[in-house]
Amino acid sequence: MRKKIIAGNWKMNKNLEEGMGLVSEISNMLKDEYQGSALALIIPPFIHINAVSKLIADNSKLGLGAQNCSNHQSGAFTGEVSAEMLKSCGCTYVVIGHSERREYFNENNAWLAQKINAALASHLTPIYCCGETLAEREKEEHFTVLQKQISEGLFHLSAAQIQHVVIAYEPVWAIGTGKTASTAQAQEIHAFIRGLIAQKYSDAIAQEITIQYGGSVKPENAAELFAAADIDGALVGGAALQSRSFVDIIKAMA
Ligand code: PEP
Repeated sequence: MRKKIIAGNWKMNKNLEEGMGLVSEISNMLKDEYQGSALALIIPPFIHINAVSKLIADNSKLGLGAQNCSNHQSGAFTGEVSAEMLKSCGCTYVVIGHSERREYFNENNAWLAQKINAALASHLTPIYCCGETLAEREKEEHFTVLQKQISEGLFHLSAAQIQHVVIAYEPVWAIGTGKTASTAQAQEIHAFIRGLIAQKYSDAIAQEITIQYGGSVKPENAAELFAAADIDGALVGGAALQSRSFVDIIKAMA
């Protein structure tokens, strides 16, 4: 039975007071309203991680992740945050290779493979993001792009290691645009990614890997997406910034 995960990526939003208010509301609503078994992750900016960790300590439905980590373990890398630091502040997950990191910070697959290693070495679960741009989809290059992102970012891992990775399929054209991939489009890619894992490792391993969908997920489209055979949750941006919409997305996962 694959783990179902709904992760709320705040990106560079919310000051400390706003963030703590949001987490308290989410935590209370989940306690009152959600009996399902999905894990909900709060993924705030680095600077709020310690405070969020304390706030969610009494709620087993909530976990904590970071939006990025260094590819180095420690040392003279001014401005960077290591996986080990994140772990020591209560994180158990870290997003690696979000399309905004790939686009604005020039993070390529080889660089991201190093970050995956750093995360695993510190016992964090990486959420490895992949997805094609609109131009790539229009040229029908999406399968090739995804194959490259997955193989170059992840296929150096052993069979034991890959089982500790979560994958998020996020078509770049659907992130923050209000345009969601149709359930059929998302399911097609999720099945393709699972097939790549099966080919490289085994079908049994592929069946155990959580693959989230991301790209304008909202309460109105979440249930249909989650009903698809290979969609195991969501990576949510905009709709995670409000307690009501984030909790309603979580509730769409039985
Ligand atoms: C994201 O940031 O990963 C994302 C999917 O954003 P949004 O839900 O706003 O499209």
